[in-house]
Amino acid sequence: GKPIPPAAGATPAIAQWIAAKTAHPDALIFFRMGDFFEMLFGDAEVASAALDIALSYRGEHQGEKVPLCGVPAHAYESYLARLIRQGFRVAICDQMETPEEQKRRKAPTIRREVVRLVTPGTVTEEALLEASRPAWLLALAPAGDRLGAAWLDVTTGAFGTESLPQADLSALLARLEPAEILAPEELARTPALAMLAERIAHVAPPRDGTRRVAEAFAVATLDGFGSFAPEEVAAAAMAVDYVKLTQAGALPRLAPPVPTGGRGFLQMDGATRRSLEILRSERGDPRHSLLGAVDRTVTPAGSRELAARLAAPLADAAPIAARHDAVGFLLAADAVRGGLRAALKGAPDMARALARLSLDRFAPRDLGAICEGLRRAEAMARTLDAAAGVPPMPPLVAAARDALCPAESPRAELARALADPLPARLEDGGLVTVGYDGELDALRRLRDGAREAIAALQMELAQAWGVASLKIRHHQQFGFLAEVPAAAGERLLREAPKEGARAPVHRQTMANAMRFTCAALAELDRRVAEAGDQAAKRERLVAQHLRRLCLSAAPGIAAAAAAMAELDVHAAGAELAADGRWCRPEMTERADFAVLAGRHPVVETALARARGPAFVPNDCDLSPGRRLCLLTGPNMAGKSTFLRQNALLAILAQAGLFVPAEAARIGLVDRLFSRVGAADDIAGGRSTFMVEMAETAAILNQATARSLVVLDEVGRGTATWDGLAIAWAVLEALHDRIRCRTIFATHFHELTALAGKLPELTPSTMQVREWRGEVVFEHRVGPGAAERSWGVHVARLAGVPRPVLTRAGDVLKALEARARGLDPLSEELPLFARSAPAAPPAAPDHPALAALAALDADSLTPRAALDELYRLKSLM
Ligand code: ADP
Repeated sequence: GKPIPPAAGATPAIAQWIAAKTAHPDALIFFRMGDFFEMLFGDAEVASAALDIALSYRGEHQGEKVPLCGVPAHAYESYLARLIRQGFRVAICDQMETPEEQKRRKAPTIRREVVRLVTPGTVTEEALLEASRPAWLLALAPAGDRLGAAWLDVTTGAFGTESLPQADLSALLARLEPAEILAPEELARTPALAMLAERIAHVAPPRDGTRRVAEAFAVATLDGFGSFAPEEVAAAAMAVDYVKLTQAGALPRLAPPVPTGGRGFLQMDGATRRSLEILRSERGDPRHSLLGAVDRTVTPAGSRELAARLAAPLADAAPIAARHDAVGFLLAADAVRGGLRAALKGAPDMARALARLSLDRFAPRDLGAICEGLRRAEAMARTLDAAAGVPPMPPLVAAARDALCPAESPRAELARALADPLPARLEDGGLVTVGYDGELDALRRLRDGAREAIAALQMELAQAWGVASLKIRHHQQFGFLAEVPAAAGERLLREAPKEGARAPVHRQTMANAMRFTCAALAELDRRVAEAGDQAAKRERLVAQHLRRLCLSAAPGIAAAAAAMAELDVHAAGAELAADGRWCRPEMTERADFAVLAGRHPVVETALARARGPAFVPNDCDLSPGRRLCLLTGPNMAGKSTFLRQNALLAILAQAGLFVPAEAARIGLVDRLFSRVGAADDIAGGRSTFMVEMAETAAILNQATARSLVVLDEVGRGTATWDGLAIAWAVLEALHDRIRCRTIFATHFHELTALAGKLPELTPSTMQVREWRGEVVFEHRVGPGAAERSWGVHVARLAGVPRPVLTRAGDVLKALEARARGLDPLSEELPLFARSAPAAPPAAPDHPALAALAALDADSLTPRAALDELYRLKSLM
């Protein structure tokens, strides 16, 4: 941003602004001036552009006009929301006293202080949050070649830590997708973080992390929470301190940090997640993602939990089986599932309401949310109890059942206290129902009684002043006034008595009315205002009492909220399986992978929605002895769908859900790699081929015998022989050295000749048939290799003009004839000696033929094919 202007010669208010900006240089300062929040200097220029509001100038500082823009204080939240969504931080610098208090102090300006820092990772307002997404604040503390990571969600209190090698940072970022990152400046400059610069706040790890975290949780030692590496504690302290800073000292309710140890999760890097479109599609749309296709949850909290499970599937057999048991139980118990889902539907978000209550930034509906949420939880517990016994309740469901009814519950009290309907804001009054608090009722009676007295006075004055149409009205500035028609007013001015409790005193003249007060009216006015004030004060007190009641029961309420989210996820999983076409996967500790009639949940849903042809299920067997599936077939035949489908099945199974297949036996996968679809990294400035090779390298360096790898078109980014050589070598490495389960899709039909050489490789192909000269894709995976190229047929489907197609057909024949002569698999070629480096093939004698040989007809777009033809012609 712009430099902060020097303070010399500043007016007192400008000096306050400069102090606030100096303390929070990364934030826009919302500077309260009466009814507006104003932004000044450089902030004004940035904010007026970001919010599309007028920029103006007022006064001078250092001989220059001061740029300024403002938003009305009563509606500031929507402007704040827009800034936060654009990644800005905002410091709210509010007025801390009334103008009267200032005058009494004889101070030159009103006292102002930064009361809060609003940042993307620490907001709690409903309007600023996405209901179904967690909002992680991630803190990173480097230690040698390791990193401490701590992530917390102030809106739910969830708090986790991990110590990881620096190399795994990208995978962590991909898993959490933090809203905001805290990192020391050196670390922020590293490649993984540099591209997220606008989400990073520069924070250095503290030395005394343990003390700070222990203080935040009011414990003497962290040992009770688990065992942490020092860098994990440092990161946790960074996160806690930052939250404290943003909330101006208040700390929201947080669960104690949980060291996750990093193990126990299926590892997936960023490229894999993008390629599989787990939480959103490649274009960023959540609907066409895995989550979008399988999400049958009925609450935002449930949806958040499901997203978290899909983003971090498990890697250990026991907890996965426990989740499958829960889904299976709710699948069998139809009525229980229905009852739970009915109780969940429309249930409020207790976790987030609790966070706002703990920060004392709550609206009446947050108290209502706790009350209603607990009522729903109890209803769910009753539903489960009714089903107790048959079939026996699995442990996860039983544990959730117990958590649904916290021992200490403020529900009954809230139900007695809260009015229905609740007011939108505390200031509106009317939060507490009649009969709950005797003192409040008495004050309200006084207030309302005074109102009755006003009605009585109105009649009295009408008579005394001889004006039947006299009305007592309330005026913002003058309080209660008696309004009479202009003519009657004139008469009163002339004739009325000048003394006594009912003597009219003129206040206002309007077009056709006049307003008066009198001693009796002024006295009543005072009483009404006083009673109203006291009632409001008392109501705030009662609201605080209810808030504390909720906070003292917070752990139990949070546990009940978590149990509801968990049951929502399990019931939603059962709902998916209820049509009978999803099955419980059998999980094993061996390197099994056998899927019978598997389907791609997203493509299947899309086809069903478009009322197109039905999805064709496909088997996939990567069991020991046939670990490597080499898949050939033309474009559009369904290769990438098949690859992704099997990777998604592994994710669903290990996330604890059932899978879209008739049967599936899946050996636990430790790491999943998927390279399918566009690998362009235009933003990163690397060529497609460079990206492809970097990602291939990552697989070869990290995959283990327990990994699952699905790869599409390795080597397509370079010339044919180069590409073939690379694909060949990668395939051998996966088969011989890493020995993982692999599906490898390729255009290089030459590779199928490896079938005889690599014992665990099984060639498969997408079945395609020709019908009346047209190509028909069956989307069925069969044994064997593709017999011929269908690229020209696909070009026809795409509308490439006939002469070009005919010509391309001729070129193809010539190429195929040529390629037979250059068969790389003939025993003499060095390429076949598996350890020797690949030698370039003998150079064809004519430049046009050489160019032809280098051409990969299958991978050409119609446009590129046309360009190639022109180029070939120029070589003749
Ligand atoms: P490829 O990777 O071979 O070019 P895709 O996997 O992208 O092909 O599939 C192309 C299109 O074919 C998809 O958009 C989808 O509509 C359809 N498709 C793929 N697999 C199936 C299937 N098993 N059943 C029905 N349609 C499918």
